[in-house]
Amino acid sequence: MASKGLDRETLEAALGSLTEFAGRYLPDAKLLQLDRDDEFPEEIVRRMCGEELGVQMFFVDEEYGGMGGGSFDLYRICERMGGIDVGVATGVLATFLGSEPIRVGGTPDQRALWLGKIASEGILFAYAATEPQAGSDLAALRTVAERVEEGGELKGYRITGNKQWISNGGVADAYCVLANAPGGATWFVVEKGQEGLAPGKHEDKHGIRASNTSPVAFDNVFVTPDRLVGLVEGQGLVQAQAVFGYTRLMVAAFGLGAGWAALDRAIEYSTTRIQGGTPLSEKQGYTHKLIVPHAARLEASRAYIEMCGTRLDTESDRLNTEGAIAKFLATEAGNWAADAAIQALGGYGYTKEYMVEKIKRDVRITTIYEGTSEIMEMTISRDRWQWHLKTRGAHYHDQAKALEALAAKSPRCGADIAALTMHALAEVLERARVQRLTRHQHILFRLGELIAYAECAQRFAEKAARIVEGGVDPRSPGRFNAEATCALSRVFAREAARKVAIEGIGHVVSAGGAEDAAALEASAGLSAVLRAQAGGVADMDRVADALYGRQTKG
Ligand SMILES: Cc1cc2nc3c(=O)[nH]c(=O)nc-3n(C[C@H](O)[C@H](O)[C@H](O)COP(=O)(O)OP(=O)(O)OC[C@H]3O[C@@H](n4cnc5c(N)ncnc54)[C@H](O)[C@@H]3O)c2cc1C
Repeated sequence: MASKGLDRETLEAALGSLTEFAGRYLPDAKLLQLDRDDEFPEEIVRRMCGEELGVQMFFVDEEYGGMGGGSFDLYRICERMGGIDVGVATGVLATFLGSEPIRVGGTPDQRALWLGKIASEGILFAYAATEPQAGSDLAALRTVAERVEEGGELKGYRITGNKQWISNGGVADAYCVLANAPGGATWFVVEKGQEGLAPGKHEDKHGIRASNTSPVAFDNVFVTPDRLVGLVEGQGLVQAQAVFGYTRLMVAAFGLGAGWAALDRAIEYSTTRIQGGTPLSEKQGYTHKLIVPHAARLEASRAYIEMCGTRLDTESDRLNTEGAIAKFLATEAGNWAADAAIQALGGYGYTKEYMVEKIKRDVRITTIYEGTSEIMEMTISRDRWQWHLKTRGAHYHDQAKALEALAAKSPRCGADIAALTMHALAEVLERARVQRLTRHQHILFRLGELIAYAECAQRFAEKAARIVEGGVDPRSPGRFNAEATCALSRVFAREAARKVAIEGIGHVVSAGGAEDAAALEASAGLSAVLRAQAGGVADMDRVADALYGRQTKG
């Protein structure tokens, strides 16, 4: 099947230019200054989105003057931007988010006009959906778009309402704003400077202080009918949903990039920091807590993101649930890794100069915007619960069988442990069904987390097997060889298995009763999951050796 996207050389050249640009205009000292001064580097972002770097070209299809990067390419670009600075990256992503409703729902003329302007003029967009009372629940929006008619003819709309937390809100050249028209929620394009449009004061934030975030007030802002995205009222929420598989993948990539940026600083620091006579990098109590599990979670998330990117580029599927899994895992992993990096640098980590403190504050937003982690858990759980019901509990057992077949062919890739995880998940879900436990929202959400871990272990094992066979996408970064990737996969699969079996049984028992423990211990394969933990420390040693470029003993 034809795949959308760039060739490896073009992508590598783009990533190289991005790194070079950041080295020139956004060195650490500049990023710290922007953070301290709470300053959005508008000129630099405009250069990034203009002729000098042209990063926006990768987001725009070729027919509208862009370079037509696919989802896989965009994940790599967003990962690199997230590794540089999540705030600056947000300034770029806002244009992409803001134009997404037009890309998916606009008429050919609207796409040509607005996507063309992004490609050729580098204009900045803002995505104005959130309101003071409508965040996770966008259906609660209060902004209205009233029809303006003369003699029965539609002349336009008047938009009135207040938007909140809008990235690029104070600097955008154009806004895609969600408002309730008579036919329902609808996206409209509003241009900067229009009468009645009033961006508010830039927010004083915990992190991503190099991004511009502000409320935007609309007071009877008049737009002509051609500014209604798709020219049909009431499509706004459907269009917002349609972009999630794609846009959440980009935020997932921010989490991945920022997490690795922090972890790499910790890895470097630990090679020179001597405590007790030897470098920290040689101490298992340090590496196996603060470095290795985070590397495993980040690389597991990468495998999941790559699976989504590949599917989005080859299938027409929207992958909303998969986008939610990718975002949930990668942003939580990035956030956790950045927190561990502060710990890994000790007192230095807690100061501003070493950057990890800033990265931790920056990456925090990725678990909140484009849907919070809890909303991701709900999305994942609700969807996969249906799969469980429709297949009468067979779905995850079937996945386990496929993983067992993979393990027979590729015994070191972690598929055997991922298979145990899948069997355990199927049994936990089934017990939850029998006991009707998803009536407890807490259990529903926790199941979402377990599902995400299990599916991610599956995708990581599959990727590790492909690397063993030499069949991985050439655009995937080749930091880890086959042996190290297999060790990373096994480390993650063991964690997923423990989580699903031990925590899963715990959740069921907490909402059900003690008899559920007895029922699940055997059926969920608890003792097999515990036996599969054997070799865990040796695998963490292998991962540490790979991260520090050491020869693995034995
Ligand atoms: C820096 C920044 C930049 C942003 N940029 C943009 C932007 O460019 N455009 C835009 O439109 N928006 C933007 N946002 C808004 C962002 O998408 C929302 O903040 C986010 O979706 C959460 O909405 P909320 O803040 O209203 O929180 P709420 O929805 O009120 O959630 C608060 C808490 O409750 C939980 N929760 C919510 N609903 C449920 C439920 N049903 N069950 C259980 N728990 C629940 C949430 O997980 C969260 O922990 C931005 C926000 C920030 C902080």
